[in-house]
Amino acid sequence: MIFFTAISAQAQEIAITFDDAPRPDSRLFSGEERTQKLIANLKKAKVPDALFFVTTNNITEKSKKRLEAYTEAGFHLGNHSHSHFSAYKKDIESYLADITLAHNKLQAFDNLVPLYRYPYLHEGNNRKTRDRIRQHLQGMNYKNGYVTVDNYDWYMDSLLQRALATGKDIDYHALRKAYITTLWESIVFYDEIARKTLKRSPKHVLLLHENDLAALFIGDLIEHIRLQGWKIISPQKAYEDPIAFTVPDVLFNGQGRVAAIARSKGWDKKLLRDDGSSEDYLDEYFKNNNVFKQNTK
Ligand SMILES: [Zn+2]
Repeated sequence: MIFFTAISAQAQEIAITFDDAPRPDSRLFSGEERTQKLIANLKKAKVPDALFFVTTNNITEKSKKRLEAYTEAGFHLGNHSHSHFSAYKKDIESYLADITLAHNKLQAFDNLVPLYRYPYLHEGNNRKTRDRIRQHLQGMNYKNGYVTVDNYDWYMDSLLQRALATGKDIDYHALRKAYITTLWESIVFYDEIARKTLKRSPKHVLLLHENDLAALFIGDLIEHIRLQGWKIISPQKAYEDPIAFTVPDVLFNGQGRVAAIARSKGWDKKLLRDDGSSEDYLDEYFKNNNVFKQNTK
């Protein structure tokens, strides 16, 4: 017990990243509104930095300004490919060309960091593909913008969009609680795996998406994380952790770096996915907590 108390005395650390930027308008927010809310909430929470992984195919004349707004606010941009192909499905030449295309399109922006976030976190389902992508990235002086905490924030956002589309009443208080609770559970889940496999808590990288839930609740999520004694750090600081340089020789990379390291040490895959990373679990959770109600008016 004393041992674990000693470890806990040092604050665990986590960085915030958002994928798929700039995402299109939704029923709740225009892209511009979403960006302004995200910036305001990140600023208010005094987040040292956040990284937006750009899917360059999402860039239009209009949404280009949103990426500029992020960098003007001091945040950074990374490469999340042009077309969001899965390395499990796309032929290798097209996949590699797509990374380069995104890289070229990103040169129009400031505050770029040479980090590549694999779409779906898929790095290839065979060693030949995986290694060719890694070589390609190395040749471009890119590093892997890996995550340590995978989760289903994208599915919770899709539940919100479906509820809005079908005219349901939204209980935003319950929605905020669902978002914070399930994301915090994912953070704790991967931190525990890290402590068991690395014997320490690494500098974490949280995967989020540039969606309405983030715009609504990122400030609350950060407050909750800090209340648990954790510290929010910049993504660039997080990628200085030794796990950035420990690339495990596995094909199981779809749930982040901590899960991949655990897998390389013989962990069963089934133990490397938390409960909240499941559509059934979240459907049930949202139902039980009455997040959405049929509009009776
Ligand atoms: Zn993505």
